[in-house]
Amino acid sequence: MDGIKNLLDLVKIHYKNEIDENNSNGINGSCIVCGNFVNDGFKAKLKPTFTSGEFLQNGDCICPTCNFVMNNPIFRRKNWIINEKEFRTLKNTEIIQFLVNPLDPPFAFYLTRTYKKHGWLLLVNRINFSRKMYFLAMDYRLLFVDKDKIKRFNEKVTYLLEKGISKSSLLSGKLKLHEFRNLENKAKEIMKFLERVAGQVEWELAILYTYKKKKR
Ligand SMILES: [Zn+2]
Repeated sequence: MDGIKNLLDLVKIHYKNEIDENNSNGINGSCIVCGNFVNDGFKAKLKPTFTSGEFLQNGDCICPTCNFVMNNPIFRRKNWIINEKEFRTLKNTEIIQFLVNPLDPPFAFYLTRTYKKHGWLLLVNRINFSRKMYFLAMDYRLLFVDKDKIKRFNEKVTYLLEKGISKSSLLSGKLKLHEFRNLENKAKEIMKFLERVAGQVEWELAILYTYKKKKR
């Protein structure tokens, strides 16, 4: 764990051979992404379509590691989790198990619904040293979550999906008449519960990444 200070330190472990340190513009200065001072920086030329400027800092260049991440689509087109041992891309159906049970720290966790934003920029200085409460980014939202809460909510969502409640009703907290009926004598209790959890980020994540079990 020694020396792991930010996301780029974790990336370096897995992409050592792919990070191009030889063909840079040789700029001396600080990196606009991670802030590290380097003497092999690339010119920071960002495309006009680049919309993540607010997550960058003042600086002179882009260091080879940040340049690599910026230009490698896997970091914006996939959900992923990274620690010293592995860099894992995740299918939507796999995400819940890692939300409830993340990798050993230090780790960083990224989710995307757009598959195109440079949301990893939010994680540069947000690697986690705890598995219980941790940061993750979902596109340009930085979220701080409690894994035990996600676990409890996941169980609740599974139950409610089985009862025929739709994900959109769970998100809004407003049940349709037939859903209310499906819940029979539990309906009032569930309504109260939904009022309480609506708007909590752990509840949102549990809904987005819990899937109804396929019927055989
Ligand atoms: Zn950098």
